[in-house]
This record gives sequence, C-alpha cells and structure tokens, in this order.
Amino acid sequence: MSTLLFRNASVLDGSGALPFRGDVLVDGARIAAVAPAGQLPPRVDARTIECGGATLMPGLIEPHTHLSFVDQATPDAFSSLPVEEHLLLTLKHAKLYLDSGYTACFSAAATKPRLDVVTRNAIDRGEHPGPRLRAASVQLTVTGGVGDLRQMHLDPGEAMFTLPCDGPVEFRRAAREACREGVDVLKIVPSGDTSTPAVPSARTLMTDDEVAAVCEVARGHQRVVAAHARSAESVKMCVRHGVDVIYHASYADEEALDMLEAHKDRIFVAPALSVTITRLRDAGKFGLPSSDAMKKRIETDLQSTIAAMQALKKRGVKVLPGGDYGFKWNPHGNNARDLTYFVELLGYTPMEAIVGATQWGGEIMGMGDELGLVRNGYLADLLLVDGDPLADLTILEDRNRLLAIMKGGVFHKPPAPAGAERLRDAA
Ligand SMILES: [Zn+2]
Repeated sequence: MSTLLFRNASVLDGSGALPFRGDVLVDGARIAAVAPAGQLPPRVDARTIECGGATLMPGLIEPHTHLSFVDQATPDAFSSLPVEEHLLLTLKHAKLYLDSGYTACFSAAATKPRLDVVTRNAIDRGEHPGPRLRAASVQLTVTGGVGDLRQMHLDPGEAMFTLPCDGPVEFRRAAREACREGVDVLKIVPSGDTSTPAVPSARTLMTDDEVAAVCEVARGHQRVVAAHARSAESVKMCVRHGVDVIYHASYADEEALDMLEAHKDRIFVAPALSVTITRLRDAGKFGLPSSDAMKKRIETDLQSTIAAMQALKKRGVKVLPGGDYGFKWNPHGNNARDLTYFVELLGYTPMEAIVGATQWGGEIMGMGDELGLVRNGYLADLLLVDGDPLADLTILEDRNRLLAIMKGGVFHKPPAPAGAERLRDAA
C-alpha cells in the first residue's frame, strides 16, 4: 500500500459540514490528513491525484442489502437455483455494489444460509471485489410468515429464503446455528407484508418470547438483530427486546414512535422505500398481482411508511436511505435512488440524505469510529465524484460520474490518467 494525495477536491466529509476546497492524504488503508487546499506539507513519496474541484466523499453504505437476491420476480426463484450458481450471482452482485460506489453493505438476509458469510469471507481475504459486508442469516419467522413458501404436498426440506421456526426453542436453535456459521446479523420477520396477502403488513406474527429468544442469542454471541417490522406491535416488540435495526416501521403508532425516540441512540430505522415504490409502479409488468385492491394495499403501506419516517425525522431518530434492491422491478445497482426519495418524499435535504448514507452507515456497520467520514484516522473508503451531489443527488446513481472508487486505501476504480479524456476524444 502506498501514500496518495487527493489534491484540490471539494471535500464533502459526510458529517453534514459544508464542503470545502481541500487536500486529503491517504496512507495505507487510512486517511492520514485532511486540510484546506495547499496547506499540507509536501510529501515526495505521495502519488498525487489532481481532483480539479471534483467532490471527494465517503463511500456510500447500504443498510438493507440482499446480495443473494437475483433480480427475480418472485421469491420461489431462490429455491430452484442451485447453491453453486447462486454463489456466483451473489459474488457478481457484490462487485456491482462496489462499482456503484457502495463500499459497505449491511445485509438484511441471505437467501441460503451461508451465501452472505462465504461472500464476506472471500471479500475480506481479497479473493473477490466487493463492499465491506455485515453478513446475515436467512430470514427467521414463524410458520406461515413472510417467505414460508412450503406446500403441504411437497418436500418440506426444500431450501427457502425463510426458515420457519415456532416457539422460542426453535428460534434460539436457528439463531445459534446461524451464529455458528459466522453471520454478523440475525434477521427476523416479526410482522407480515403486503407481498404475502395471507399475512398483511399490519399483522404481527412473532411473539414476545420468540423475539426475546433471538435477541438473547445475539447478545450472547455479540451479533446484531435486524427486523422486518411493519406492524406497530412488531416495532414495539423489537424495541422492547433490543433489536438494533428496524426495517419499514410502516404502521408505527404514537407509542411505537415514542419508544423508537427513547432509544434513538442505539436504534437505526431504514424504510426501504424503493422496493415499495417500484412494486407499485412497475411490478405489474413482471406478472405480479396488480389488481386495484393490491395496488391500494401497497399504496397504503407506502403512505403510512412516509408518514412514520417524517415523524421519526422530527424526533431525531436515525433513518437511513437504501433498501431491498434485487427484485426484477427494483434491480441491484440503483441503490442511490433512495437518497433522492428521502428528499422528494420525506423532506430530507440532500445533505441529510448523504449523512444517512455515509456517517450513519458507518454506525450501522458497527464501525462509527472509523468508517463513513472523510476524517483523519478513518478508513480510506472514498468516492471521487464528477459534480456536486448536493446540487443533484442523481449524480450518485450514474456510475460514469464516479471518477474513482477507493476501499481501504486501494482503488477499485482508479481515476483516469490526467489527459486521458482528451486523448480519447482526439483519437
Ligand atoms: Zn429486505
């Protein structure tokens, strides 16, 4: 690893501070100095990148990732996909996230038990390009819960992306098994979802003792718990028992909002807006149920989620943009869209959306003291962006505008050599 100086960049550090013209020195895997332009002492050993005022910012962090989703229309696609092909696709998606400027991902469930773990390990060993990954278990929920695709006449042993458990004993066993296999995140599904009409979003499926059992295992093994929790009661249950990350929170009532606020120092919420918006708008084209009644249910989910997130923003709860990409109608690699949704639908400023995707992203990864900011001593996970994302967040959705992508001080995408653009045009 070498020493490298980004010179004359517009430094957008991820903390919410206004950008400034500055120089950033990277030494090995970490940021060694950040200073106003021209104020760092010269370093003859440092390779210099002339930024010409391009934005230098922290790599983006996705709080609700499913690297083993395969841009499928329906979840039964996971069951028919053999694990070997499935792993190759998961690795392919890992690279796509890094190509898209996501240098870290918090997983919200794998679709087979070891896909995330094996992918994380390959990335950490440098065997495959990909973001830093918090690897998750498959979804744990009750019989008949979201993703329980079993049919009475078929072999119940068929692989599924949801592992049905009933009672604290079964949940505890499943959670311990996932810990044994090396997951960082235990994913539970305590509420229903509109995608599964038999168990709608506002219904609570898991019981208190089941949620408590998983949280107890997580504490014992120093893992975190993330929950798909749309119903008000499921949100309260999660807060009561110490769940760390709450997805959707669509039907959070006043009491649930109060509880989230009371624990805002330790809890993260991520609504995963895009999957609902695109499900409403585009999923019918892919053969998913799109009757007026279904659309109305999804619209209600969306509007309730928006109202809940606006209330949480007012209460100072950390709400993070991103989520649930990997469906045919919401494909991987477009994740930065969610930042724009935060501005258009939730009333965030572009700066607030960026803080959610960088500084708070570092915190959700459990690395808040070393990831998600352009700051001395932090890991050099950096994007050099052509333009000002504060003026136009959609720049972050365009891979061509990401001039350079660095993870841990190593370029995944190096900047084009100075003048290369001109030479190419002349050719
Ligand atoms: Zn999800």
